[in-house]
Amino acid sequence: MKNNNDVVRVRFAPSPTGFVHIGSLRTALFNYLFAKHSGGKNILRIEDTDQTRKVEGAVENLIKVMGNLGIEFDEGPVQGGDYGPYYQSQRLGIYKKYCDELLAKGSAYYAFETSQELDEMRKLQQLEGRQTMYDRRARDLSEDEVRLNLKNGLPYVIRLKVPLNEEIRFDDVIKGTIKIETNIIDDQVLLKSDGFPTYHLANVVDDHLMKITHIIRGEEWVTSVPKHIIIYNALGWEIPQMAHVPLILNRDKSKLSKRQGDVAVEDYLQKGYLKETLTNFIALLGWNPGEGEEQEFFSMEELIKKFTLEKVQSSGAVFNVDKLNWMNNEYIKNYDPDKLTEMALPYFSKAGFEISDKDRIKKILLLIRVYLNKLDDIPDNIVYFIKKEIELESENLKEFLTADSSKKVFEKLSEKISLLDKLDPENYKTAVSEVQKETGIKGKALFKPLRIALTGSENGPELPMIADILGKEKVLDLLKRWI
Ligand code: GLU
Repeated sequence: MKNNNDVVRVRFAPSPTGFVHIGSLRTALFNYLFAKHSGGKNILRIEDTDQTRKVEGAVENLIKVMGNLGIEFDEGPVQGGDYGPYYQSQRLGIYKKYCDELLAKGSAYYAFETSQELDEMRKLQQLEGRQTMYDRRARDLSEDEVRLNLKNGLPYVIRLKVPLNEEIRFDDVIKGTIKIETNIIDDQVLLKSDGFPTYHLANVVDDHLMKITHIIRGEEWVTSVPKHIIIYNALGWEIPQMAHVPLILNRDKSKLSKRQGDVAVEDYLQKGYLKETLTNFIALLGWNPGEGEEQEFFSMEELIKKFTLEKVQSSGAVFNVDKLNWMNNEYIKNYDPDKLTEMALPYFSKAGFEISDKDRIKKILLLIRVYLNKLDDIPDNIVYFIKKEIELESENLKEFLTADSSKKVFEKLSEKISLLDKLDPENYKTAVSEVQKETGIKGKALFKPLRIALTGSENGPELPMIADILGKEKVLDLLKRWI
């Protein structure tokens, strides 16, 4: 294992599939935080050797999302670096070379089975109730047979020769010590018949050549480690520290899935979850600052300061959307008004709101932001600023508007407002309290009909502020309708 005096080098090694999964973001974030915390380097490596999974534009999208969220790389496809290329598809010759070395050392071998033969083998194993794995039959081919097959141009793969009757042991920083008997480890394919390496070969070769000191990734990869260790050992390479972070779970404790909500980071960004919320919330999926620490809000700088692998939990982390909403609402409520306004413009525009008057938008936003779990809630919260007519939230509300006392209130208030030059929150309040004095109508009988007349709803932000934003003419219009 690496000792801790080495300069830390970590990598985020996605296979881009078109969108960024919440789990991927968490892996990327933990790597970034760990690198920054330790004064090390964060590397982006694109694992794109599976040609069947290639998606146009996926890498660009991934790089954009990472940039949006403030996750920076010291080396990678954009920055370059001394250990490139950082696309695995551009490193095929390198994998071939190490595969040849494994062959020469007797740690790998040629296998010529057709997929049909492999299917039959598996079927038989199933029938006999055995574990389905490659039965290692090509290990017994003689050198002459191999030479002849190659000469005849038979398609082949190269497989790892797993040493038999041994135990593999490793210490994972998060999971603790893990042991496994080699006899149940598959003779993994290292090089496919199309000449492309598998994940296992490429991953190990690159982690070594890129001088990675710590491998921080999702728990779903932990079962690959024994195979990797066999490759490291065969090539005489040092094994990086392993840290497998716990799964992210739905609330019913199943693995986070699309069926129970969004899993694409892009969807959350689009809905108006702020990037500060996302990094804060995601960091807490599996990590916490330690016992007795109550703090829940962390800026990126604070996360960097506090993040250590020792504080990553080993059991699954539940993704709680209610908590995400609460946290985003807190961020929105406390955000710099001008910056928030800029970010909110697309959502106003989406609601059909004229966005040239930014001051008006800012005013509205500051008024409604307590109600927003995400910026995408804006359209629902500004209908009464947009529509000419007010639509009642429910028909029952009509009775408050048609009551005799309400009519009196609307009439009196209209008189007062017509005399004003311009409506503002203060003179609106004064006008209403004069109406109260003069009519003797107060409390609910006074305020409720007014709110409903101006907004169509029983609840909402402070009415004087709403009146101010609606403006004198619109308020008079709305009151007139019920007089
Ligand atoms: N390419 C793998 C993935 O898609 C990388 C796993 C690892 O970090 O080793 O997540």
